[in-house]
Amino acid sequence: MNLPDTPSKILIVDDEPLNIEVLSETLEDMGDISFATDGDTALKLAAEIRPDIILLDVMMPGMDGYEVCRRLKESPETKNIPVIFVTALADEADEAKGIKIGAIDYVTKPVNATIVIARTRNHLELKRYRDYLTEIAFVDGLTEIANRRRFDEHIEMEWQRARRSSDWLSVVLLDIDHFKQFNDTYGHQAGDDCLRKVAAALKKVAHRPADLIARYGGEEFVGVLPQTDADGAEALGNALREAVSALNIPHKDSSAADHVTISVGAASIEVPKDGEYSALVKAADNNLYKAKEGGRNRVVAS
Ligand code: GH3
Ligand code: MG
Ligand code: MG
Repeated sequence: MNLPDTPSKILIVDDEPLNIEVLSETLEDMGDISFATDGDTALKLAAEIRPDIILLDVMMPGMDGYEVCRRLKESPETKNIPVIFVTALADEADEAKGIKIGAIDYVTKPVNATIVIARTRNHLELKRYRDYLTEIAFVDGLTEIANRRRFDEHIEMEWQRARRSSDWLSVVLLDIDHFKQFNDTYGHQAGDDCLRKVAAALKKVAHRPADLIARYGGEEFVGVLPQTDADGAEALGNALREAVSALNIPHKDSSAADHVTISVGAASIEVPKDGEYSALVKAADNNLYKAKEGGRNRVVAS
């Protein structure tokens, strides 16, 4: 995985179009520039395009820059976007106020091109590294799908969401059949290759935006399926099982088939007001055990 090299997105907010023009020209080589001339539009655009940095005028009629910044920092969607205040106010107290609200930096008008370019570049670079580190913290290094940490976070979020709306939530646990033997027969390198292929195949099947497939550990994977009841989970479990089987990776020493297969345990619940998701994962795990006991390469759902 590499640092992304997509162009940075820069949002410039100023009620004076001439100021926007000057700043846009100064920063045009640094990324894709959008602009807004009032606070409401700025907030709407920020949520929509998720800029990598915002250059924000302090004094604007209606909602001023401080208020815009405060609201940006309140929302989970926009709170990590660095904000640089651009202002005619040159007082230390004003600067302190901006920083306290959550701005990362401060430049004074009239803007000095060298300074605004240097600061914008620095903050864009830091943001790029931060985004990258956040991303790799949640991705499994071998298979490049979501990791256990991402799963924990996702299921917690979906559990709360489903609880609020008394909705269905399903979990599927998947485990490669006789994988120890696969490694012993074909080597660890082939085992790693197999894990990558299986992960990619699973990810392709669970394609609803809220679905998540993660590597749970070793040769086990887990799927979180919001708004999915027991029938849906069983159907998806079977689709996942078939997708792995269709890879047709030879496994001559498996008791389940002549190729690599998975066993699947699924569990579903209409999320109650009390209770914890660990019971749902445990139920899926019990069903996975039954699928193994029953001869592998099968789905057990409840
Ligand atoms: P079962 O059908 O009952 O699941 O049998 P199994 O052999 O798959 O289960 P077991 O839990 O005994 O063995 C899992 C094996 O998965 C052990 C280990 O060699 C292998 N494994 C776990 N993680 C990795 C990995 O990252 N790479 C490779 N190549 N193998 C792994
Ligand atoms: Mg296992
Ligand atoms: Mg296994």
